[in-house]
Amino acid sequence: MKKAIFILLTLVLALSATAALAADVLVGVAMPTQSLQRWNEDGANMKKALEEKGYIVDLQYAEDDVSNQIAQLENMITKGCKVLVIASIDGSALSDVLAKAADAKIPVIAYDRLIRQTPNVSYYATFDNFKVGVIQGKFIEEKLGLTEGKGPFNIEFFGGSPDDNNAFFFNGGAMSVLQPYLDKGQLVCQSGQTKMEQIGILGWKSEDAQARMDNLISKSYTDKKLDVVLSPNDSLAYGIAASLANNGYTPGKDWPIITGQDCDRANVKNMVAGKQSMSVFKDTRALAAKVVEMVDAIVQGKEPEVNDTKTYDNGVKVVPSYLLEPVFADINNYKALLLDSGYYQESDLQ
Ligand code: BGC
Repeated sequence: MKKAIFILLTLVLALSATAALAADVLVGVAMPTQSLQRWNEDGANMKKALEEKGYIVDLQYAEDDVSNQIAQLENMITKGCKVLVIASIDGSALSDVLAKAADAKIPVIAYDRLIRQTPNVSYYATFDNFKVGVIQGKFIEEKLGLTEGKGPFNIEFFGGSPDDNNAFFFNGGAMSVLQPYLDKGQLVCQSGQTKMEQIGILGWKSEDAQARMDNLISKSYTDKKLDVVLSPNDSLAYGIAASLANNGYTPGKDWPIITGQDCDRANVKNMVAGKQSMSVFKDTRALAAKVVEMVDAIVQGKEPEVNDTKTYDNGVKVVPSYLLEPVFADINNYKALLLDSGYYQESDLQ
């Protein structure tokens, strides 16, 4: 009996010590922009999960303005944040401000996007970004019957923002599947634009993807069929679909295959309407939960769990990372993935 009471007391003490610890701790969460659905969810999830553990949260959005994000981080350092969680806008632009964080002994977790060109990033949590691209590439491979030797099919490529390290991983993953078919002539890119410096869309802007698609159609597809567009994410896929609709393409008739990523509401609606063929689901709840675990470990002086210590070289060091699994989503499984899991309500998709 005495032993049981002792164990109970120790437990209560240990728990209240953690709570007291968390209650004193201010955590800075810097997100890139509110203009894209996913980051609103990432921010809200992080704030909620950290507050549930008793942390005080300073959540900031920088509206895709790099100097704005730097100013927000400087402010977080001045205010005495004990940990910084950063989804960067330009992954290579934070070296100076993170030197200040290091001077103040503030550990930094890179959230979703790697922070490059600095030793002052402690951990990285993300989805397996290469695998996102592989899922997109394999979808195209299967839909077109490329392994059975079918073709030639006309394909156009889009790339993510060149200042986002993820963009190169998405592209690398997709091209690891598709490049051999370009080499064999089963896939043909009529515009000839296949390199990241030709296909990247700065800031992941839908309207710029739309403008580029307009251009591609008028230059290369007035008398040719466009069979497939590799889009790395949903914001670009949305712009591409808008361009196709404006240029007279019809879903179910001559609409090309279009890939995506994020399962944004507007894009799930487009999948249902036949305007987008697939997306990749990255459950932002799971990423937020993982990062909260990391914050908690750091605050308690423990080592956060990582599962990759090789892939993410930021130009100065390999950043210890935790990679979550991205999941394929299309019209056939979106209900189970997104509705049954409570990620969305039916009304979100109407
Ligand atoms: C994220 C994607 C997102 C893109 C645009 C990338 O870094 O991994 O999920 O679609 O940024 O915000």
